[in-house]
Amino acid sequence: MGSSKTIVWFRRDLRIEDNPALAAAARDGCVFPVFIWCPKEEEQFYPGRVSRWWLKESLVHLGQSLKSLGAELVLIKTHSTVAALLDCIETIGATRVVFNRLYDPISLVRDHNIKEELVELGISVQSYNGDLLYEPWEIYDERGHAFTTFEAYWDKCLHMQMEPVSHLPPWRLVPAAGTVMKSSVEELGLEDEAEKSSNSLLGRGWSPGWSNADKALTEFAEHHLIDYVDCRLKVGTSTSLLSPYLHFGELSVRKVFQCVQLKQLLWAKEENNLKGKESVTLFLKSIGLREYSRYLCFNFPFTHERSLLSNLKYFPWNDNQVCFKAWRQGRTGYPLVDAGMRELWATGWIHNRIRVIVSSFAVKVLLLPWRWGMKYFWDTLLDADLESDILGWQYISGSLPDGHELERLDSPEIQGSRFDPEGEYVRQWLPELARMPTEWIHHPWDATIAVLKAAGVELGINYPKPIIDLDLARERLMEAIFKMWELEAAARTSNTNGTNEVVVDNTDDSENLAIPKVVLKEKVTCPTNSSNDQRVPTNQYSQNNPAYRKRSKYMEDERPQPDKLHNDDNVVGTSRKDEDLSSTAESSSAKKQATSRCSFSVPQYCSSSEAKPMQECESSDLRQPWQAEIEMEQSSTKDGKQSHFIV
Ligand SMILES: Cc1cc2nc3c(=O)[nH]c(=O)nc-3n(C[C@H](O)[C@H](O)[C@H](O)COP(=O)(O)OP(=O)(O)OC[C@H]3O[C@@H](n4cnc5c(N)ncnc54)[C@H](O)[C@@H]3O)c2cc1C
Repeated sequence: MGSSKTIVWFRRDLRIEDNPALAAAARDGCVFPVFIWCPKEEEQFYPGRVSRWWLKESLVHLGQSLKSLGAELVLIKTHSTVAALLDCIETIGATRVVFNRLYDPISLVRDHNIKEELVELGISVQSYNGDLLYEPWEIYDERGHAFTTFEAYWDKCLHMQMEPVSHLPPWRLVPAAGTVMKSSVEELGLEDEAEKSSNSLLGRGWSPGWSNADKALTEFAEHHLIDYVDCRLKVGTSTSLLSPYLHFGELSVRKVFQCVQLKQLLWAKEENNLKGKESVTLFLKSIGLREYSRYLCFNFPFTHERSLLSNLKYFPWNDNQVCFKAWRQGRTGYPLVDAGMRELWATGWIHNRIRVIVSSFAVKVLLLPWRWGMKYFWDTLLDADLESDILGWQYISGSLPDGHELERLDSPEIQGSRFDPEGEYVRQWLPELARMPTEWIHHPWDATIAVLKAAGVELGINYPKPIIDLDLARERLMEAIFKMWELEAAARTSNTNGTNEVVVDNTDDSENLAIPKVVLKEKVTCPTNSSNDQRVPTNQYSQNNPAYRKRSKYMEDERPQPDKLHNDDNVVGTSRKDEDLSSTAESSSAKKQATSRCSFSVPQYCSSSEAKPMQECESSDLRQPWQAEIEMEQSSTKDGKQSHFIV
């Protein structure tokens, strides 16, 4: 063991096992584990109530584990992370700071800047891969380009050599002496007094903390993995439920991967275990989707505020607060959608298929800006994870080459009969429909008065009528798409050489949930940079690269003339007061924020896998890729059109 004093900066790697930063620090001498909570730096992506509850519980758990190994986890609440780190460095006389990397657009920039600041002051800084199977800069195609479809990306990953779990938990930690201004876990303010009673219910269903994550993985691998292929097909059943653990880094993804692969090996010896094989492949693909979400955020930053493809740039969103509220409260009149939204509000978790159904409904039926939905999920999900959330919303909104097409609109009624055939899920979350016969449970509006009366359902009184007729919604969606094409064509005409694209999308004109502006500046190379160290996004693509434009269903000259776009009288177009930490999850109405035309700097893309200095440029959309379908299923929609699903 060496004699250095190292600060271990914990963030979303709240575990002891397979924690490379902690292992490196423990190997080299005294450690000073610290968790710094800086709400100001979280900006609009300040975590929601349930996510903060999880974090608080997990910090307590980690603190106890570190204590039993000999070191205390120091908790600090601050207005500046770098100032807090500098305070720790000075107090204990540390010469080194270590941490595990994060890849969301906010952390990428913040960590890079902090690192440079510390290095300039002569402090050694090292970062490690504690979150991924493969670093985003390790996976490129043969031309050195980032992959733009999940299948190709994942195929490449599966053929790569993977580092085995090599970081055994330290058996003892030597604490570095020093006293800093620390906070108790209560003082961090992760849980308001008013939130405590709601949060106490969460404790009945979930046990945060890295050793509980371990138990959850074992339980899943031993008893439920085999049925994973079926769980993906029925809402109301459980998948692994590992997402909150993975989000907070309580579980090493390498360990999950290896544990599941081991099962595959064991099952391979058993005859006729096709189901096990299918389940393992599908589950590993899910883990791959999480990897891919980080990959896209790294290679195509700004995806949290702009669609990857520019196809939604001119989409005439319906910025209707009344519709947004009905969707949030589960009062759309479509039972499967409402059940999902009620479950989300009550428990902070919903099945992937329900996430797809409710998010598609928001975007395609209600025409709500996808960024509103993304922010609401962020505010309410227990596993709220910026990269996965971005990925999910872009997938359903036609923004990815291998995602759903924008014009595809599935009927919640048909989805209900497929994924909740007995109506159990709807009955569980919509008690007002509990006595509805199965035949009508997913479309109560078609039931006779006598049936409704016998079930105690009064449409429009104790359960809403459909917020919009689905056929009308289809028409509106197509009108909106035509309008988008029209605006797109007009913009092309006024900018024929294509080099001077306007840096806005039309959601900037509507009520906008201000999303952090991230500015990457050209900087000097960090002296501590090594090939294993953190990289920052490099330039990949020209935003006008036609290779990544999703093919439209209609050829240009086949497009029908658009009718006048539907205008909702209820549109509320007030501008929003800019507020930090705003949440769309507030029960009555979303907090207001300033509407601003987004004008910000993003890195320009060129083709290279080598780290290159950042360039500042004005841009908006990064036309790009995304996530793949984990399973392509055929489902008939009402009008007989075939459709396929992610999940
Ligand atoms: C609109 C939308 C928003 C989403 N927002 C989030 C989010 O904020 N946080 C989040 O963790 N997941 C999100 N997902 C992905 C997915 O729904 C959840 O990861 C999954 O339902 C979590 O349940 P599980 O742990 O039982 O997953 P399992 O099915 O058991 O999968 C195992 C793990 O794989 C990962 N995974 C599975 N599916 C996906 C996926 N489609 N994308 C990325 N990772 C995946 C998760 O880490 C998950 O824990 C979103 C999906 C959609 C469609």
